[in-house]
Amino acid sequence: MKFEQILGQKEIKERLIQSFVNNRLSHAYLFFGIAGSGKLGLAIAFAQYLSCTDKQEKDSCGQCLSCKKYEKLIHPDLHFVFPVITESGKKKISDAFISEWRELIQNDVYISYNEWMQHLGSQNKQGIISVDESAEIIRKLSLKSYESEYKIMIIWLPEKMNNSCANKLLKILEEPPHNTVFILVSDERESVLPTILSRTQAVKILGIDDDIMQEYIIKNFNLNTQEAADIVKISNGSYVEAKKQILASEENKFNLQQFIRFMRFTYSRNIAEALQWADEMAKIGREAQKNFLKYSSILIRENFVYNFKNNNIYYLTKEEEEFASKFAKFLNNNNVNEIVKVFDEAYFHIERNGMARIIFTDIAFLVMRVIKK
Ligand SMILES: [Zn+2]
Repeated sequence: MKFEQILGQKEIKERLIQSFVNNRLSHAYLFFGIAGSGKLGLAIAFAQYLSCTDKQEKDSCGQCLSCKKYEKLIHPDLHFVFPVITESGKKKISDAFISEWRELIQNDVYISYNEWMQHLGSQNKQGIISVDESAEIIRKLSLKSYESEYKIMIIWLPEKMNNSCANKLLKILEEPPHNTVFILVSDERESVLPTILSRTQAVKILGIDDDIMQEYIIKNFNLNTQEAADIVKISNGSYVEAKKQILASEENKFNLQQFIRFMRFTYSRNIAEALQWADEMAKIGREAQKNFLKYSSILIRENFVYNFKNNNIYYLTKEEEEFASKFAKFLNNNNVNEIVKVFDEAYFHIERNGMARIIFTDIAFLVMRVIKK
């Protein structure tokens, strides 16, 4: 990963390169700041730069043998430590999960702890960096470096390290072997053990600049300027947060489309279309089904309130409001509660693993019966 692949962060990139050029490398860094600012990417890019055999003025070359191996995250002198879960048949150390790790961050280096846990398929298990890991770290760093002048140990989320692991690392953090560089990458510096903190050089990484983030998400997600500006505003410099917002808004668009379709065919009592729709909805997955039902239930209430034409009491996007201007008049005191109840009960049954096709067929027929009340 080259520095140029990390969004913004111009000053930090320059500072890191200067620390090498001026021979002022620290043996242990702590990159800290909000999740999603690009800290992990910066750590990898910095490591790649240090190992590059043809360093350029502002970046690694991306072409040398070392850079090629870094690109695949398989350089033998690059080591990763990250929180892991207990999984049968696997040791509780990072290397046991390294292929999952490479798979995830090669695809996207802007990840959160939750995304990592989800990727591991953890069912509410907590990830930690355990005492087994400290033995691995010490063992790896005591070996001679294989190919590069520098041996790099990137520890992602040191706040997940338990006490016994931390205690065993104090000595090596303070006096690491020659040309070893630790880069700790923390989302919550206040939760990192003080004994670890005091042995590292803190480097604060700020959020991504708004204009840089905006330009990037417009280019990559097919958003217009206004949509992108709205997302940037609530993301506070975190690309992880921006992604979450973009996904939510895409899901919203899907839900609105399905809702409009649903209301059209229930109003016209188009049974063939209702069955076709239930078939399609059965395939979108349980989480998406639940989100659609919850969304519909809220939207119906909002549409009912829209009838009172008071801007302060309903909350709708532009597209939703456009739909409400035509649809809301069909909702009244006689049917609104019944329709909301249909969606809420469907939610209840989906959550308890009911048959989705039957549940979605049911709500279509139930709403057909009450929509014209
Ligand atoms: Zn290179």
